[in-house]
Amino acid sequence: MPRDPVLRGPEPGDGIPDPPEGVSQEKNADVGTAINLDDGHLDDHLRPLTLDDVVGQRKVVERLRIVLEASRRRGDPLSHLLLDGPPGIGKTTLATVLPRELGVDVQITSGPSLSAPKDLLPYLTNAGRGSVLFIDEIHRLPPTVEEFIYPAMEDFRIDITLGEGLNARTINMALEPFTVIGATTRSGMLTAPLRDRFVNREHLDFYELDDVTEIIRRNARKLRAEIEEGAAVAIARRSRGVPRKANNLLRWTRDFADAGRHPAITDVLAAEALEMLEVDKLGLDSLDRKYLEILATVFGGGPAGMQAVAHSLNIAGETIENEVEPFLLRVGFVQRTPRGRMITAAALAHLGLTLDGEPDSSQQGQLFD
Ligand code: ADP
Repeated sequence: MPRDPVLRGPEPGDGIPDPPEGVSQEKNADVGTAINLDDGHLDDHLRPLTLDDVVGQRKVVERLRIVLEASRRRGDPLSHLLLDGPPGIGKTTLATVLPRELGVDVQITSGPSLSAPKDLLPYLTNAGRGSVLFIDEIHRLPPTVEEFIYPAMEDFRIDITLGEGLNARTINMALEPFTVIGATTRSGMLTAPLRDRFVNREHLDFYELDDVTEIIRRNARKLRAEIEEGAAVAIARRSRGVPRKANNLLRWTRDFADAGRHPAITDVLAAEALEMLEVDKLGLDSLDRKYLEILATVFGGGPAGMQAVAHSLNIAGETIENEVEPFLLRVGFVQRTPRGRMITAAALAHLGLTLDGEPDSSQQGQLFD
């Protein structure tokens, strides 16, 4: 498939000036190769391509339409935009839809892959007029890179230091006006100066059940899978208001149907597929339930430190913090207290457990109905 010129990222060495002394060209060439969105990366197949395809987040989309229209009329680049919200909620989607709507290039990188200013340099020098630089997980930019990006965002220029010690000199280099779209799951971890450089900031919230159901219907069509209404709703209910989860569950149920040579994802089939995946009726998976069970049994319901629970589960604390706890906190199954995490009565009732780990016979066996 030919590359989409709208979404062109830099080719290695494409317009990149000679690196300052001591900077490895290979490294730069590697970093400067942006992901092409048509390569099949990033769940592309199901990713909306235009703002009209974006389901839900109505207020955010409305505001973005205004910013887009203003930018189009003035012929100016979009103002820098910060998108914050949990994983899988549509940040990358919006960050790629907007440049597509404007017909400009987009380059994609992420905070953790930019360990020094030289890693960012090729992106900045490749940024064409009005193009977008999408930086995912921008809260993880190291301080040196963050300082390097300030003048780039504010005045479209960078200061490059060449040489060392007494021989060091700084060159001031002009950039084309461009737009940074930053995405973060932790807006609180962004430093104030970086946050202030984003004129537009949007928070993406969890989706309503109706919106997730609509995303499932549309994506089933994209996957050429026939799906019954009840099946779409059952999947949506277990998706926790997160489109990426909905996509994953949809793909699983489609595989389940295909493997059994069923022509459509019926309500009955979806129920079977979801039960086999051990995702319960509230969308808790086996890791979520294990976390709660350990908190209830090993730690007597808490309070327990997050790291201690993570160790007991043999899972990285970051995974627990980013992927398990947010939903459990949201549904009120865990409380964060100054002394640690505590399980709630609602969680015990859902699991059918008592604090000593004994099954509560009145509640057992209803997780998946
Ligand atoms: P994030 O960048 O926040 O982690 P993504 O933008 O990668 O999330 O979203 C994951 C997937 O969920 C996308 O590929 C797309 O299929 C789907 N998706 C996300 N938001 C929407 C939306 N508003 N409308 C339709 N599909 C969406």
